[in-house]
Amino acid sequence: MRLFLAFPELTDRVEAFIYSELGLKEFKGVPVLDPAEAEWAAVADSELYYITGSRTPQSSRDVEEKLRAFGQPKERLHPAAQLLYEYLSLWEPVAYRPRSVRVEASTLCQLNCAGCYMRLDHSGTTGRGNLSFAAFRKLLDENPGIRAVELSNSGEVFLNPQLHEILQLAYERGIMITLINGVNFNDVPDRVLEDLVRCRVETVWVSIDGATQKTYGEYRRNGSLEKVLNNIRKLNVLKERYHTDRPELVWKYVIMQHNQDEVGQAAEMAEALGMKRSYTLDWRGGVTAKDPETLYRITGLQCFNVDEYLAEEQHRFNSDFYCGQMIIDPQINWDGRLLGCCTVYRSDWKTNVFETPLEEIYNNSHYRAAVLALLSGEDRYSFEGPCGTCEVYRANVRQLHYRLQL
Ligand code: SF4
Repeated sequence: MRLFLAFPELTDRVEAFIYSELGLKEFKGVPVLDPAEAEWAAVADSELYYITGSRTPQSSRDVEEKLRAFGQPKERLHPAAQLLYEYLSLWEPVAYRPRSVRVEASTLCQLNCAGCYMRLDHSGTTGRGNLSFAAFRKLLDENPGIRAVELSNSGEVFLNPQLHEILQLAYERGIMITLINGVNFNDVPDRVLEDLVRCRVETVWVSIDGATQKTYGEYRRNGSLEKVLNNIRKLNVLKERYHTDRPELVWKYVIMQHNQDEVGQAAEMAEALGMKRSYTLDWRGGVTAKDPETLYRITGLQCFNVDEYLAEEQHRFNSDFYCGQMIIDPQINWDGRLLGCCTVYRSDWKTNVFETPLEEIYNNSHYRAAVLALLSGEDRYSFEGPCGTCEVYRANVRQLHYRLQL
């Protein structure tokens, strides 16, 4: 529903939503149907808009198949992204109310990960720096609709020396903080560990690609698995002391050739530490699985290689997630420059969110043209900006005419 919160005028055009998360029954007076249990007779003549999941994206194909099994004609089923495309195509100013943003807390990092694009490319054009407390407060003051901020991206959040103040302010203002893009969690001051619990940070995804130091350290060079596990144990003690289940902890595992044998052992360790698990493909290529059945069973992934994924799904791995950020929760560099999505590090949209309101930026013709191209899968829009030189854009829009799902 984040799309409809960000673009409030869209809801006026919807007769019924199809959405299976959060147990919602209605949204702003519009019925919300779970495809597994819907009373279809009640919406027999409605146009139905479906929204796919955000963290575990279901493809539109899955949703359409499920709905057709209930006898719903395909003609009445529309992806929510299509509605937004129609709205933006009018080329009138649109009402955009940013509810969630992504702001890089720090581009610094103490590790030297083997495939890290930041280290390989000397931080691109993002520069090495930290989000300041003053800039964070200004952002919240000038965009009072913001209710959620993702702080992790290309660097290590915990190297920001003002993180304590940032977390405290977010807590006082009721802003949900997430660290989903990932943290290495090697060096976390005790005071900040306690802040994560005391300030009710929603979730922390810890990048741990192995169950032994040897395997972990092969990719996370300079990293210490024991330090990471120790910090997790300390956090769990604090959660008990505060009687809270927040932050939710997630063990994030990139499947690589050298670590595929430790997936099972790592899953057991995650279980023992009370962590959920998330698996992702190596952006540099992927894995030739030695034991595909076991890997499928443990990870739930359908394939282990980005090229296989592209051939099977006809779009780049994770591209809905990345490009969706540009539309709903844009990525902002630590110094305020608008990046659009979390993959961008070698250019930006030549505008600063700490100086210009996001709504104004959204109505900027270049940014909007790129959004329209992503939503339509058509390469007829002209714009200058990071998407134009992006491999995802090239594969999805230029070659496959893939329409973004939200
Ligand atoms: S096309 Fe590339 S740069 Fe643009 S939003 Fe998608 S992933 Fe990011």
